[in-house]
Amino acid sequence: MDLGLEGLRAVVTGGTSGIGLATAKLLLAEGCNVALCGRDAARLEEAAGPLRAAYGDRVLAERCDVLDKAQVEAFHDAVVARFGGADILVNNAGQGRLSTFADTADEAWGDEFRLKFFSVIHPTRAFLPTLEKSASAAVVVVNSLLARQPEPHMVATSALRAGVQNLAKSMSVEFAPKRVRVNAILLGIVDSGQWQRRYEAQAKGGETKEQWMAKLAKEKGILIGRLGRPEEAAAAIAFLASPAASFITGASLEVAGGVSRFA
Ligand code: NDP
Repeated sequence: MDLGLEGLRAVVTGGTSGIGLATAKLLLAEGCNVALCGRDAARLEEAAGPLRAAYGDRVLAERCDVLDKAQVEAFHDAVVARFGGADILVNNAGQGRLSTFADTADEAWGDEFRLKFFSVIHPTRAFLPTLEKSASAAVVVVNSLLARQPEPHMVATSALRAGVQNLAKSMSVEFAPKRVRVNAILLGIVDSGQWQRRYEAQAKGGETKEQWMAKLAKEKGILIGRLGRPEEAAAAIAFLASPAASFITGASLEVAGGVSRFA
């Protein structure tokens, strides 16, 4: 199936690692121009260098902290200057916070609120006027299954993920008359940098990554029996962002290997 992405202009926040990088690569391979951002200059260059070598000026990489409104506006301006606008915004930047209710201080709740909400609000606000001009505009919010199935060791992240689902739904309703679609993916465990680090720290006596992942998958109730791959999350993002999903808005797609903690 042709997703119809050829020639579209995509923005991927947090595109220097894991799911964001896999998404940038897939969108480039599908013929999009892609702008990606991250905070760390070295990581940005490490990710963007090979992409530029392969795709030249179709790649724009900018340092930008999505929590800094001025930096997001500057990123937007750079995208418009290079590509003339944007058709796709993937709100991917972020990370989870491991903490129970007992050990989440008020300040940490505030930090997590800022990260989860403003990583969506700042880029969406900055790019919405240019998305509205596109004939094929889509926002994809990268969210977590924790929004529906909270885990007590990630209490703040879980609660705020639920709020982000609610926000995405409201945006889909408000933006529909402007012909900007908004959808979310709800991720289970995807094997990105953080899980590689946990494997290295936790694996015992010659345990391979596959063996460790199978054990973890069993503990977590992942029916498919392994962690997800960044490319699998990227495929769902690319579909929802593409004209192939032109009748889909306000939806959320679980990319979680069938996890069902409360079934
Ligand atoms: P990675 O840590 O591999 O990648 C995160 C990316 O976001 C990096 O490029 C990082 O670059 C960037 N980033 C983080 N904070 C900011 C910021 N404030 N401004 C701009 N860029 C930022 O994570 P994943 O690929 O695993 O995760 C991608 C998204 O999916 C995240 O939002 C994560 O919370 C979510 N998710 C992931 C799950 C998983 O199992 N992997 C499960 C559920 C949700 P830099 O640090 O240089 O800024």
